[in-house]
Amino acid sequence: MLNLQTIFAATAPVARYAVRTPLIPAHSLSDAKREVRLKLENTQPIGAFKLRGAVNALSKLSTEQLQRGVVCASTGNHGRALAYGAQQMGARATICMSTLVPQNKLDAIAALDADVRIHGQSQDEAQQLVDELVATQGMTEIPPFDHADVLAGQGTIGLEIAQDWPEVDTVIVPLSGGGLVSGVALALKSINPQLQVIAVSPARGAAMQASLQAGQPVEVKELPTLADSLGGGIGLQNQYTFEHVQHLVDEVVLLSEAAIARAMRHLFWQEGWVLEGAGAVGAAVLLESALQQQLAGRLGQRVAIIASGRNIDMQVFQQVLNAAEGEQDA
Ligand SMILES: *Cc1c(COP(=O)(O)O)cnc(C)c1O
Repeated sequence: MLNLQTIFAATAPVARYAVRTPLIPAHSLSDAKREVRLKLENTQPIGAFKLRGAVNALSKLSTEQLQRGVVCASTGNHGRALAYGAQQMGARATICMSTLVPQNKLDAIAALDADVRIHGQSQDEAQQLVDELVATQGMTEIPPFDHADVLAGQGTIGLEIAQDWPEVDTVIVPLSGGGLVSGVALALKSINPQLQVIAVSPARGAAMQASLQAGQPVEVKELPTLADSLGGGIGLQNQYTFEHVQHLVDEVVLLSEAAIARAMRHLFWQEGWVLEGAGAVGAAVLLESALQQQLAGRLGQRVAIIASGRNIDMQVFQQVLNAAEGEQDA
C-alpha cells in the first residue's frame, strides 16, 4: 500500500539513478500576490520524472527477475525510463507501444538497448502483447502508473518540494494515468492536509476526468494531442490511481490544444525551457484567464508547478513556436 513511509523508502533507490531536481522561481508566472516555482523534472537523465518510479520498482526485483527481463506498454517516457533503469541495473527491457507513439521517442528507447515491439493502435492493444510476454517468457511487468512502487517513486517529487519549500500551498500536476499526481499529492497532503492539488489534462482523451465523472474507470476514445505523454486510458481494472485521484485531487482542469501550445511558447520565451506538451500544461493553468474562474479560491499564494518532461520532437516544437498566436481553441 502507498503511504508516506513507502515514499520515504523510495528516496534511496531514486537518489541512486535520478537527479534531485531544482525548484526554481518562475518570475513570468509570479506577481505581487502569488509566487510560482517550477519543479524541473525535465532535467532528469531521460528528460522526464518517470525515471523515479521505474528505478524504484526495478530496485525491488530479485537478480533472477532482472535476468528474465522487464516489460511494459508505454506511450514513451515510461518506456524510456524503464529501458534506462534496466540498462543501469544490467537487466533486459522489452518495451511494447502503439503506432501513436512519435518516432523520436521510439528512437530514444531503441538507443538504450531495449527491445521495442510495436503492436496495435492504442495503449490497450500494446498491453495485450505485454500480457503474452509475461505469461510465455516469465518477464516481470512494470506498468507506467498503476503500481505501488511506481507511485512511491513519483511521490519523492512531493517530498522534495516539501523540503525545499515548506510554505507551498498549491501544487499543479500534469495528469494522465495518475501515477504522478497520486504520489505527489499523497506526499504533500500527508505533510499538509490543507494543500490544494490541481491536476491538468488535455481535453482530448481525458480518461481520468471521464472516470471521475462516471464514478468508476471508463474508456474514452484515444485522440492525438500535443501533450502526447498524457494520452492513453487509466485501465478498466485500475487498482490504485483512480481511488487516489478521487481522494487526493481537489480539481481537475482540462486544456484545449491551443492553451497547451501557448504554455509551451510562454515557458520557452519567458523562462527559457524546452518542454513537451505534457511538461507545459501546469503553466497553462496560470496563463488562461478562463481557468482562474473555475479555480476560484483554490490557487494559493505559493504555487509549485511540475514541469514533468522535455521529450518532444524538435520539429514539432519548432512548429509550435512558429504557430501564430490567436490559433483557434479546438
Ligand atoms: C507520464 C507523464 C505524465 C503523466 O503521468 P501519469 O502518472 O500518467 O499521470 C506527465 N508528464 C510527462 C512528461 C509524462 O511522461
